[in-house]
Amino acid sequence: MPIFKDIASLRQWRQSLQGTLAFVPTMGNLHEGHMALVRLAAARAENVLVSIYVNPLQFGPQEDFTRYPRSLDKDLQQLHAAGCSTVFTPDDALMYPRGRKDLSIIMPPHSLAKPLCGAHRAGHFAGVCTVVNKLLQMIQPEILILGEKDYQQLRIVQQMVADMNMTVQVLPGPLQREANGLAYSSRNALLSPDERQMAPLLAATLGDLAQRSRSESAITELAQAGRDSLEQAGFVVDYLELRDSQSLQLLDHGVPGARWFAAAYLGQTRLIDNVMIPL
Ligand code: AMP
Repeated sequence: MPIFKDIASLRQWRQSLQGTLAFVPTMGNLHEGHMALVRLAAARAENVLVSIYVNPLQFGPQEDFTRYPRSLDKDLQQLHAAGCSTVFTPDDALMYPRGRKDLSIIMPPHSLAKPLCGAHRAGHFAGVCTVVNKLLQMIQPEILILGEKDYQQLRIVQQMVADMNMTVQVLPGPLQREANGLAYSSRNALLSPDERQMAPLLAATLGDLAQRSRSESAITELAQAGRDSLEQAGFVVDYLELRDSQSLQLLDHGVPGARWFAAAYLGQTRLIDNVMIPL
């Protein structure tokens, strides 16, 4: 399994490649959610490239960039076992050789990037769009695989690709959960044993809201009840909202296909999740 750390050898490999290439960007500390995306990539393309890069540009100054879990050796073993053909592990000097002060930043579409995480993480989606753009330029894949765990990110990148007339096909991968409902996340590794016990309540609350909002119309009250039960259990909630899956506009009534979105802290660790109202 070749592991590229520089652009010249990556491009050389790309030019000699037979068949289509699917690309799965990650920040490492890989788990079953990432592996499901790798398997989806392998089912859709002859070649699969996974990037592992903790992108400083998408972290705010008060956020957990230095604390973010890194486990490169273990990640590479998992990818090898999953049949990944190639890994790209750039570093900051390669991605941002002139630092961030004078960098051309790609701005995300305003209406999609303003609410939810965009309202709580200034500059986050500009950082995401910039790094995804750079990686796409370097890798030139036919298919870009993104997980529905980061649903807002998926919608923003889909619109960026459409707005910029990029030819890459964006393929969403379903959100993968532990048996207890907790969405797999690299940040779960940061939870204390007590927090880990509590964490599945986030998914359970969203699942309950998704069911109840099929028949109950008082969305504001439902959202408040969900927020209250999370906060009673020790979460600090950033947002808990029902939104349209395409436009991400707030909804005041439940419709099949709409999504409940939440972000909440357990201690220092920020978790996000989303659950769709069944079709
Ligand atoms: P990250 O390493 O957290 O930046 O995530 C890399 C990719 O994996 C993104 O497209 C995420 O949406 C996706 N991903 C992360 N966790 C999950 C999950 N539990 N289920 C599905 N996709 C996921």
